[in-house]
Amino acid sequence: VQAVVLPGDGRVVVSEVSDPVLGPGEALLDVRLGGICGTDLQLARGYMGFRGVPGHEFVGTVRSVSSPADRVLVGARVVGEINLGCQDCGWCAKGLSRHCPRRRVLGILERQGAFARRLALPVSALHVVPGTLADEDAVFAEPLAAALEILDQVPVEPSASVLVMGDGRLGLLIAQVISSRGARVMVSGRHDSCLEIASRLGLAIQPAPRPPEPVHDLVVEATGSASGLDEAQRWCRPRGTVVMKSTCAGPTSFDASHAVVQELTLVGSRCGRMEPALEWLAAGRVQVAPLRTAEYPLEEAPDAFAHAARPGALKVLLRMAP
Ligand SMILES: [Zn+2]
Ligand SMILES: [Zn+2]
Repeated sequence: VQAVVLPGDGRVVVSEVSDPVLGPGEALLDVRLGGICGTDLQLARGYMGFRGVPGHEFVGTVRSVSSPADRVLVGARVVGEINLGCQDCGWCAKGLSRHCPRRRVLGILERQGAFARRLALPVSALHVVPGTLADEDAVFAEPLAAALEILDQVPVEPSASVLVMGDGRLGLLIAQVISSRGARVMVSGRHDSCLEIASRLGLAIQPAPRPPEPVHDLVVEATGSASGLDEAQRWCRPRGTVVMKSTCAGPTSFDASHAVVQELTLVGSRCGRMEPALEWLAAGRVQVAPLRTAEYPLEEAPDAFAHAARPGALKVLLRMAP
């Protein structure tokens, strides 16, 4: 089956890979649409020593299932979990398979990703897409879940002053999600085109010079760059919270003593729950249309990756069905 393959040398190629084989309780999907995210770009550059088929943001149609009990799903349009837990440990029992120590991570760790015409996934990892939700919107479920995870982790008061650092794909989702709580949200970034989209979304833009005293109760670092965390701390008031969203290929250095002296709370934040993300998308509680930069067919994946890596590019989609 045709797929995007990262050989581990910085290239992005399209080639034939073996057809996915269904395990017990799994479904075979025809992938319809995929979304390229910052993590995919990092994987292409060697993050986690990745080799293989990337992709964890997708919409697909169930083609077949291995268990007759799941036959009702055949033909359903679905999105999937990125983290595939063992379903046998305490984390999985609590519905937190995204922290299962034996998890596989779609298109990242020990599990072939979604940038392929066909994909096998456990039925337990699938979520049916509401009929009213277009593929082009549903494909944002996984990154929106990652944005919504912040609301699960950190209380956001309506009176809070919040800075979202990073005007990229994830930053603009996070800023919308936090605004919905009534907080005063500012966005900072380096791309005029993205900041313009942020303003159109009704978000305020953080003026570049740092105020004499840090003012923000909550700073979300979503710059995708290794230097972002140090900068994020400087914008955060004493006893404030810094949410760390960037995953970088290299080590990240920051002034830990600043965090100690200011008594900052540093919160690592990764993936979130897919169900509320689908609900938010179906209810139109976030706008994703302004975040779609381009769409390419699978055959042109190298161009799509190059486009997604360009400064100012937001979500680049990959159309898998011919
Ligand atoms: Zn992602
Ligand atoms: Zn587990």
